[in-house]
Amino acid sequence: MSKKITLLGSTGSIGTQSLDVIRMQGYTVFGLAAYSNIDLLLKQIVEFCPQYVVVVESNAAQKLGTQLLGLKNPPQLMVGKEALVELAALQGADIVLNAVVGIAGLAATLAAIESGKDVALANKESLVTGGHLVTDAVKKHGVKLLPVDSEHSAIFQCLQDVHSAKALDKVILTASGGPFFGKTINELQNVTKADALKHPNWSMGAKITIDSATLMNKGLELIEAAWLFNKPCDKIDIVVQRQSIIHSMVQFDDNSILAQLGVPDMRIPIQYALTYPERYKSPAPVLDFKTLKSITFDEADEETFRCLKACKKSLKKGGLASCAANGANEQAVELFLQDKIKFLDIGRVVESMVDHIQVKPDYTLAEVFDCDKYAREYVLSQI
Ligand code: NAD
Ligand code: MG
Repeated sequence: MSKKITLLGSTGSIGTQSLDVIRMQGYTVFGLAAYSNIDLLLKQIVEFCPQYVVVVESNAAQKLGTQLLGLKNPPQLMVGKEALVELAALQGADIVLNAVVGIAGLAATLAAIESGKDVALANKESLVTGGHLVTDAVKKHGVKLLPVDSEHSAIFQCLQDVHSAKALDKVILTASGGPFFGKTINELQNVTKADALKHPNWSMGAKITIDSATLMNKGLELIEAAWLFNKPCDKIDIVVQRQSIIHSMVQFDDNSILAQLGVPDMRIPIQYALTYPERYKSPAPVLDFKTLKSITFDEADEETFRCLKACKKSLKKGGLASCAANGANEQAVELFLQDKIKFLDIGRVVESMVDHIQVKPDYTLAEVFDCDKYAREYVLSQI
């Protein structure tokens, strides 16, 4: 069946891989959104002919507007961060795939759900910052929230048998360990941006690549899993699986374990979210066990990688503690990418933010954004 898709964050790593899947499945693109990379966006517009396009950054939008004059059937161009939310809610799409990076994706996730659309969610920060708003909205509007993150897709795939799903005891999240696996605090003192941007298994956007090096990504995924699968922190284990072949596992009440395996290629989980519950041919290669030879397991070192510890603490603290951890991390990663702080400072400020923040159980969307702003300012005051 052909589907109409709105793709937010189309110029990013997940965005472009989503278009590979959309191309192969012959789906229709209803809307595309990006921040400022209009050269790539224009190519996508020419190929996929969306009805609507959003550019968040206004100068880039203006330039694109001029270029669109040359097209036969140009899409309607919308500008700014409000337009991103508007596009997410527009009737005409069957599903919204949110591949925006950071808390910038939260309002659009909520808007898509509130307009009654299923959401394929790559933007883990939506659940980390506004977990209870997102999950409450999903229940209220009776829509599906389909995980795109490979670990959460793996867990979701393992839970398709409803009888077994009722007996879910534990979620076992796998982690690659990132480029600095096995390193001591001392060895991490002077690692550079270039070192941190070299991920062993996955090719991703800069922010999530740094998050993988600090293990913040696994911390964010722990919080994401807690919301998606309704489990407390002590029912989510993390195990390092260096080859990124086992994408995650579930353990049932009878101690039986199911795992989902495959090559590390995001087009598999992206496609499953879009074609769910069906499975079709994928553009991703098959796993070759002869060349793989072994699959190894190690412990995650949360004493060295403080971001993971901080995320655990935030999940236990509840309320907006995870939002504060995320905001602190987004600000710290930005500073690290500008060479303004050191690698280990990221974990230091994120943990300090979580220890410092005072929380209450419930919150509004406005309070989420206030907390995010507060966390960013807190980090800037600490450096
Ligand atoms: P990326 O940096 O490659 O792309 C981000 C996209 O979001 C771009 O299209 C950009 O234009 C857009 N964007 C950036 N800031 C924006 C803003 N303020 N408003 C609107 N759009 C904005 O990032 P990515 O690696 O594709 O990751 C996207 C999301 O998917 C993240 O939440 C990440 O954690 C998650 N994710 C990524 C991977 C991966 O393999 N890359 C895997 C799992 C989950
Ligand atoms: Mg992941």
